[in-house]
Amino acid sequence: MSDPQFSPGESFAFELDRTDPLRRFRDRFFIPPGTVYLDGNSLGLLSRDAERTLFRVLEEWRTLGIRGWLEGKRPWFTFAEEMGAKAAPLVGAESGELVFTGTTTVNIHALVSTFYRPEGKRTRILADLLNFPTDLYALQGQVRSRGLDPEREIVLVPSEDGRTLDEAKIVEAMTDEVALVFLPTVLYRSGQLLDVQSLADEARRRGIPIGFDASHSAGVVPHEFHRWGVDFAVFCSYKYMSGGPGCSAFLYLNERHFGLKPGLPGWFGYVKDKQFDMRLEFESAPSAGGWQISSPGVLGSSPIEGALDPILEAGIEAIREKSVRITSYLIDLIDARLAGPPYDFRIGSPRDPRRRGGHVAVERREEALRINEALKARGFVPDFRPPDVIRIAPAPLYTTYHEVWRAVQALKEIVDGREFERFSRERKAIS
Ligand SMILES: *Cc1c(COP(=O)(O)O)cnc(C)c1O
Repeated sequence: MSDPQFSPGESFAFELDRTDPLRRFRDRFFIPPGTVYLDGNSLGLLSRDAERTLFRVLEEWRTLGIRGWLEGKRPWFTFAEEMGAKAAPLVGAESGELVFTGTTTVNIHALVSTFYRPEGKRTRILADLLNFPTDLYALQGQVRSRGLDPEREIVLVPSEDGRTLDEAKIVEAMTDEVALVFLPTVLYRSGQLLDVQSLADEARRRGIPIGFDASHSAGVVPHEFHRWGVDFAVFCSYKYMSGGPGCSAFLYLNERHFGLKPGLPGWFGYVKDKQFDMRLEFESAPSAGGWQISSPGVLGSSPIEGALDPILEAGIEAIREKSVRITSYLIDLIDARLAGPPYDFRIGSPRDPRRRGGHVAVERREEALRINEALKARGFVPDFRPPDVIRIAPAPLYTTYHEVWRAVQALKEIVDGREFERFSRERKAIS
């Protein structure tokens, strides 16, 4: 059932690369020597642009000291707001709706503490069983902090196939007992892309605030948070956005909520031009910026300024287009070459590209862990999610079609030669 737009031969991979409109961006990135990097959904690679802004800020600290807060090229004092404005086109944020701050989990706490207002019989939070664990930990903590029982109040939409969620089931669960909906845009294992717009519509129609964690889609799938009426969102910056380990995250707040009081206030959320009046009454900035808590992690976050450049230059629509094409190509190669015995690989991601984010879950009932180890020993960098998923994420700005072809060829050879038998069944702390 091979897709007629693709062909399984190696020369076709070269042809796809030759005609790839984004091919010139690969040189902007440092590809770890000897590797085929397929893990841009976990930690995106460093670009020259990001390296430059990191070094510049370090230099500013060296030469300006405290004056960097106001005299840095991008003054550190307003860096969070400026980076929010810079990244706004990626998620369809309007002015003041996006700020670069905190970390994903902290931002979930900051927003859920604001939006979770249990009242009468409306006390539940609707989430899903396939979510990234930290998101659920944060929800549990928020429920507990109100003296309520997370077991009772958090409703997790189940998954019929263990991989994907059915939007209709989610909407069905938006009952009059639900006080808040919080969902991922793209599921971290299967890569399913939820229909954010229709979920936001349905939640609004029922008067339920809805927030999204877009960590697995930001920088690879375009969003229109403002136009879709999403109440709030969070996303990290170190996956497809290539902000680097330790880089801050983003916090999106729809402008109709600018008047709300932040649930976890801190002095960096103060009205900017009065912050240093040092008054004891908190007055939050009337923007997403009001949800900042602490001084920004300027050094660790400085790569984002440059990291955004290749993304904005390429354009999120073009990035999405390549992402769809290269993941479709990967799926097609697996189907054409590795679906039957002895290979027995299966695709765990939705086949409809409109329902798929930037990575592909390649499943194998047996030996997926050791096959992943064998891939790594050959210089490939995928990752493994238990029990049986090898995640492959071709990053549109730096992964080539030929690299995808080589990964599939390597999977074939690893099974042909039973190469995986040389590896241990024990998992490392990070796999
Ligand atoms: C990567 C990711 C996170 C990371 O959380 P941190 O607090 O930044 O460590 C959270 N949620 C989702 C859905 C993610 O994909």
